[in-house]
Amino acid sequence: MKIICIGQNYRTDNTTVPEKPLFFMKPETSMVVRNRPFFVPDFSKELYYEIELVLHINKVGKCIQPRFAHTYYDAIALGLDFTAMDVLRQCKEQGLPWDTAKSFDYSAPIGEFIKKEELGDLNNLHFQLMKNGECVQDGNSSEMIFNFDQIISYVSQYVTLKMGDLIFTGTPAGAGPAKINDFLEGYLNGTRRLRCRIK
Ligand code: MG
Repeated sequence: MKIICIGQNYRTDNTTVPEKPLFFMKPETSMVVRNRPFFVPDFSKELYYEIELVLHINKVGKCIQPRFAHTYYDAIALGLDFTAMDVLRQCKEQGLPWDTAKSFDYSAPIGEFIKKEELGDLNNLHFQLMKNGECVQDGNSSEMIFNFDQIISYVSQYVTLKMGDLIFTGTPAGAGPAKINDFLEGYLNGTRRLRCRIK
C-alpha cells in the first residue's frame, strides 16, 4: 500500500492557493496505528504536527472521473502528517525532494477508520486537534480547496489507486511544533478518534 498526501489544501496565511492539487507520498513504514506513541527522530529539532482527514481507498482505479470518485473510498480517519520542518526548509531552499522531511518512519499516525455512511455530510466534516488539552487546529472538509472527489480524480491520473491505499487530504491552519511529552488528540465531528503521545 501507499500513502498519498495533499499539500496546501486549506487557505492559511502563509500559503498560496495552488491551481491544481499538490501531492507527495509516504511509504508504508511511515504508518503508526492503534494510538501508539510517536518518537521524535534524532535528525530534526523542529517537528510539526498537521491534522488531516484521511481517505481509505477500497478499489483499484486509474484516471477516475470526478463523478465516480466517491465510489473509490469507503471510510475516513484522522491522521497526523508529521513534518521535520527544519529539514523541509532546507529541502525547499535547495530545491530538493521532500522525502527526508515528510516520509520518514512513523511520520503518519492514523486513527480508527469510520465508514463514510456513519459520518453524515462528507462536505461538512468538522475536525480538531488538541495539544495538551488545548485546541490548536480546527477545520472542516467544506473549507478544502480541492474536495475528496477532485483529489481522487487528479491523483489517479498519475498514480493507480489500489485497495488499502490512504490519501491524506491536507491540513487547516494552525500546524505547529510538537515537543517530547506533548499529548495530541484528534476529534472528528466531536468524537475523539486519534491519540498520540510524543516521546
Ligand atoms: Mg500535510
